[in-house]
Amino acid sequence: MIGNNYEYWLDPYLNYCSCNDYYYRTLSGKGLCYHLNSAHKNVINKNFEQIYFHDEEYLDFISAIISDCYSKLHKQSN
Ligand SMILES: [Zn+2]
Repeated sequence: MIGNNYEYWLDPYLNYCSCNDYYYRTLSGKGLCYHLNSAHKNVINKNFEQIYFHDEEYLDFISAIISDCYSKLHKQSN
């Protein structure tokens, strides 16, 4: 999901999002972050475009998610 200032990786089927709200709100059981709530509404309303990745792209995809999470955690610790 691409916002005005940030880009977030999310998987509505696994209830995962890389935003700060996910770490503080969703993981502590206080509810879904804004992005997951929005994604669920879009899935229910069939208002989305599905993109399939080839197996060869898997490593780059996972590396990007890990790099994004690391950057956010590193920023928060400083
Ligand atoms: Zn989120």
